[in-house]
Amino acid sequence: MSERVRTDVLVAGGGIAGLATAISAKEAMPGVSVTVVEKYTSGYSGKANRGAGIVVTLGGYRPEEFVQYHTDRIGKYLNDQKFLMKFAREIDNDIEALDRWSKGKLDRDEKGEIRSIKWRSQLRGVSGDGIYDFDQDNEYPWRLAAIDLDYLLEVRKTAVRLGVKFIDRVGIVDILKTGSGEACGAVGFSIDTGEMYVFEARAVVLATGGQNYRVMPMWACGRGEGHAAAWRAGASLANGEFSSFYNWTSPHNFKDEMGVEYGLYNDKGENVGLRHTIEPHPDIDQDSLAEYYKQVKAGNGPLHYHQDENIMLPFTRSMLGSDAAYFKRPYTNRWWGKLIFNGATQEPDDIIMPGLIGEYGAVKVDEEFQTCVPGLFAVGEVSIGGTRCFGAVPAPPARVRGIALNVMTFHGRTAGPAAAAYAAGESVGASAGSSVGADAGAVASVGAGSSVGAGVGASDGASVGAGDGSSVGASADVGVGANAGVGVGAGVGANDGSSVGAGAGAVASVGAGSSVGAGAGDVWAGASIDAQAADIEKRFGAPLERAGDMTVNDFAFEIAKVVQPLGNSLYRSEARMQGALARILELQGQVERIEAKTPHHLFGVNENVAMLLCAEMFFRASLERKDSIGWFLREDYPDSPEKLEWIVIENDGGGGPRIVREPVPISEYPYKPGQQDA
Ligand SMILES: Cc1cc2nc3c(=O)[nH]c(=O)nc-3n(C[C@H](O)[C@H](O)[C@H](O)COP(=O)(O)OP(=O)(O)OC[C@H]3O[C@@H](n4cnc5c(N)ncnc54)[C@H](O)[C@@H]3O)c2cc1C
Repeated sequence: MSERVRTDVLVAGGGIAGLATAISAKEAMPGVSVTVVEKYTSGYSGKANRGAGIVVTLGGYRPEEFVQYHTDRIGKYLNDQKFLMKFAREIDNDIEALDRWSKGKLDRDEKGEIRSIKWRSQLRGVSGDGIYDFDQDNEYPWRLAAIDLDYLLEVRKTAVRLGVKFIDRVGIVDILKTGSGEACGAVGFSIDTGEMYVFEARAVVLATGGQNYRVMPMWACGRGEGHAAAWRAGASLANGEFSSFYNWTSPHNFKDEMGVEYGLYNDKGENVGLRHTIEPHPDIDQDSLAEYYKQVKAGNGPLHYHQDENIMLPFTRSMLGSDAAYFKRPYTNRWWGKLIFNGATQEPDDIIMPGLIGEYGAVKVDEEFQTCVPGLFAVGEVSIGGTRCFGAVPAPPARVRGIALNVMTFHGRTAGPAAAAYAAGESVGASAGSSVGADAGAVASVGAGSSVGAGVGASDGASVGAGDGSSVGASADVGVGANAGVGVGAGVGANDGSSVGAGAGAVASVGAGSSVGAGAGDVWAGASIDAQAADIEKRFGAPLERAGDMTVNDFAFEIAKVVQPLGNSLYRSEARMQGALARILELQGQVERIEAKTPHHLFGVNENVAMLLCAEMFFRASLERKDSIGWFLREDYPDSPEKLEWIVIENDGGGGPRIVREPVPISEYPYKPGQQDA
């Protein structure tokens, strides 16, 4: 049995990025039909409602200051500075959009102003009437604000009010394409019954989250099926070698800890973290993680965390942990209060270790979030590294804690209108303008799409011009914690060979509020949808037909044992990475060993396949970079690169992955290496 659904814009994934995309598509073009397909239940699923709910405001700083700081201190000039500037200009508009969509869940003070604080400010005291006094004397050109963690439910309701359709508990597995290579839908399956869903869509937006390899429990929903679907459809990957984000964690509960560097001791009683905190760091520091590797390798493990020496603690506790928190968020305070209480009661000792979060999000996109497959967009964590916006760091949060929610909203506010315009047969370039102006009258901008787009493009340009160890921590490689193309100007009509004029007709019908599908011609005719769907069903369902000797979880654990060790994924060397890649390729040859008896298991197999693909591409890109820069550290190549290049992996169809080095166009950017010292 199968369901067939037709929609103009299909959004796969109903986390914050998917919801922001769906809402923005509808705000820009109300006549375009939008369907969100979510593997679990949108509003509850994804990461945005289980995090800290911290967001960023510029707080009076200029976007230029943010871009300059990020480029120089964090992204190490591997940033796409034009993209970053576009984002920085929208930082405050993004949180206002979140506030509007969630009906006021952003924390505001008595005067209605957004309550904010500087990152890493030190709490000096709390007065009798509960007024916090912070030392806010630091250099970061941004401030933190906060949103209550139940906001996503309200955001979903906003989407429903705008007419977005939701299909929950269906996971997307692969993309459908026309004979000429455009995305024209996707195939998914019910996670409960295994029933197949065939979605015919004019534009497909992947918003399926990052790849987190199931190592750290709070990030475990990031399993990379969107990346794998994009790759199989022909999308490229970029900047993936930086996706090795680790948090400090206790081997007893896997809760993350901030500020461990201040109190990080080896087993001989020496503080080995402080040397890496001489300079202020915005968030966890990669060199202290590498230090962990060196200490354990030298026989000085396990490492210990002296919490009482963490000078960040008063700051993080006052922001997050208790009923007396600086930010006033009833739901969040309850959630974090319980979590931290439970975490703290499960720590019988002070042993600390790095836990891999990963955040592989390398699907390469252009400034409208379109991949190189026309009609296929990718937003949120799945493409955040692939934008190259944040440079030489894992993303998110790209070491600016709390900025991920701004980023996801920005992606949605840009890609939603772009995907809607694509579906309506408009030029995608034109839609970028309408997204930028979305808050100021999105619907009005639809009709004027191209002129708005041109205006924004021009002004943007002008201003930019200006292991082997097994026991926790005690041995060398840190055992798995485990021990634990835009179709520029091409109307949709052109896709199936009918006249471009049909695209214009579609735009008119959008204005009239009817479905784009009525006016834009049938892009699915001749796309062999049934044959493609049958192939996908065969691949997805194959594990049911065979006997396996490994469970889904046991297989995932084998992958974790390769990606978790710091020596493979953070402080890297040629030999260790070659070994890791060989093991991943070996596991790829053993997928048939995974046992599957239910639709859940089938998704488990699909997720393992996706994890293997992401791990393979992570190691391939890492082997290609023979230098050390930002978050990317090589024991055998400690020097900075001579040339600034992005590493891109293209899918060349039959021949496998092809590595391409793209020079960073630094001469076109305002901020250049060395300039800051002059
Ligand atoms: C513990 C924690 C704390 C955090 N704290 C903060 C913070 O304070 N501030 C901040 O800015 N950021 C924070 N973040 C990061 C932020 O929450 C994420 O970056 C953001 O929510 C990612 O949004 P997304 O929509 O791209 O991905 P996700 O939230 O992962 O959403 C992806 C959605 O796609 C669905 N999906 C996956 N595969 C499929 C499929 N095949 N078909 C259909 N649906 C699928 C998933 O179920 C999920 O609902 C935190 C994250 C965590 C885990």
